[in-house]
Order: sequence, then structure tokens, then C-alpha cells
Amino acid sequence: MKRTPKAAARRRSKLLPATNAAISRSQKQQKKKIAKTEGESEVSKSIELLLIKRIASSEHDSCRPMNVQDLVYNFTPETKRYAYKSGFATGELASIHFPGALTLERILAAAGFGKVIYYPFPDAVKITSARKMSSFSFGTNSHMFESGLIAGFLSRETARRVEAIETHCVLNNSSFCQFEASRRIDPYLGLTSIGSFDKLSELLAEGIDAEPCSFNNDYYLISLLPLLQKPLLNSVSKLMYILGKRLGEERPEARSEIPKILRYLHIPGNVSENVHAVNLQYPHELSMSGFVLLSTFLLRGYIATALKSRSSVFQRVSKGAYMASIKIE
Ligand SMILES: [Zn+2]
Repeated sequence: MKRTPKAAARRRSKLLPATNAAISRSQKQQKKKIAKTEGESEVSKSIELLLIKRIASSEHDSCRPMNVQDLVYNFTPETKRYAYKSGFATGELASIHFPGALTLERILAAAGFGKVIYYPFPDAVKITSARKMSSFSFGTNSHMFESGLIAGFLSRETARRVEAIETHCVLNNSSFCQFEASRRIDPYLGLTSIGSFDKLSELLAEGIDAEPCSFNNDYYLISLLPLLQKPLLNSVSKLMYILGKRLGEERPEARSEIPKILRYLHIPGNVSENVHAVNLQYPHELSMSGFVLLSTFLLRGYIATALKSRSSVFQRVSKGAYMASIKIE
């Protein structure tokens, strides 16, 4: 089947179920204002390549929290497939420019999988991570982006198509993650997903309460990039808004909860006195308009119910990185 950019865009737009959450006119206008500042060019291959280059050129000891992209990728069978395909493309790109097993090990270490043990067999590869990360339960194959990445990398390295599947996962009550790659695997067999908004918001709340851990920002962005592509970005932002609203209903203590949400998103920031504004200082590595949109929507959804307030976003670029201020009315 011929793949066109339009067809790809249509596929992305169908990934998340239509959400009828009321997003007010002012919020829509704000969204346009933010979105139009940069186009799809910012999610180009060159950024991805730069991130891969940085990761491939040094050792890493990153940890792996349950990030917002993990939640979105595990939401539906369609988002899981999208995660796998996106990871596959990233893995291929990495192998084209930085071939060799060391690159894959470094990428997986940056992804927070700890020390990677790599067992190559004539017709299969087993990759095990020894790091225990959390006790969340998502179901099987939770790290789909990484399964795809391994498959893409190894397909390119071995010059023949292989697929990968995660056979054990820390997000499915295992004490380690393990991936297997071979030509005979069907990566989509028996996929389970989070499936409901209730479960998704429950997991988000757990993620926000989890111990902070320092994740590699380059990898954070690589695994987020597929969600920052239009038109999918609009659906993901709406989803963030809905999840934020649910969180606000359950946890209206804004002064203590907002800093936790910021920490969860890996964005330094603060809440002003009397909770009139939330100020976000995006790190250089995460300073992209799509990420500003996604993260401020989660916070604005939270503000809408926790503080029963409308909000607006003001953003500017300072010293090459975004700063955003959410004003609470
Ligand atoms: Zn896993």
C-alpha cells in the first residue's frame, strides 16, 4: 500500500478515540496561538538524529519512571501499534547512522532499563534489563516503543526484517523487562491495553505520587516525539486536558499537587503565591512547542476542576528555551 503523508496524518488522527470534552473557545484560540509558532519541521528526523547521536556517544545510568508517554502509548491497541511503529523507525535511524550493538545498549540504558544483557542467538536475540522500576500493572508488552526500537535496530543491523516482543515487563509485575527478537514473532499478538479513562487517570495519579527519578531527557524527548506530531498532538492534548480535570476532581489541593505534576512532567517550575499562576521553565532539551501544548493542557485541565477556574497561557522564549506562565483567572 502506498503511504502518503496525508494517509499517515489520517491514521494518527484516528489513534485516540474522539473525546467530546468541552474545551472552551478561549482554550482553542490559545491552542492555535501556541501551535502555529512551529510546524512539523520541529519533529523532523534531524532532531531525532541529534538526540540519538548524543545518546550513542556516552554511557548512561538513567532511571525509568512511568512517564506520560508510557500512559498514552498503552491506552488503546491502536496507540500501542503506533508506539511500536514509531520505535521501529527510531531504531532503524539509529542503526543507519550509528551501527553496532553498543548503540542499542546505550539507547536502552538511556531509556532507563539499567544494565542491558544481550544474548545473540543465530535466529533470535534476547535482551534483559535487570532494573526494577515500579509496581504498576499495565498488562503485557507495556514498553511497545522500545520493542519497536529493538526490532527496527536489529532489522537494519541484520539486513532482514525481525520483530520484537516484550516477554517480561516491570510494568506487568515482573522484576525486570525482557525482549525477544526474531523473524517469527508477531509483535501485536495478544496485546492488552489500559482501555478506559478511569484506569488511565488512576495510573496517572500513581505516576504523580511515585518517587522522583532522574530520567535521561534526550530519551524522554525521543520517546515523546511521535506524540508531538500533528494532528495526533491535538488529540493527545485533549486527552491531557481530560486527565487533568479528573485529577483536579480527586485532588483539589493545588498548592501541593501542581508541583508534583510539574515534577512528573520533568519541567522545573513553581506555583505563585495565592495560586494565581503556574510558571514553567522548559529545559533546553525539552523546549518544543508541542511539549508546551501537551504539558500546559494537563495543568489547565487540573486547574479547571481543582480551582474551578479558567486559565490562559502566556509563553516566550528566553535564552533559547520556552518559558510559559499559566495565569489562573
Ligand atoms: Zn517493560
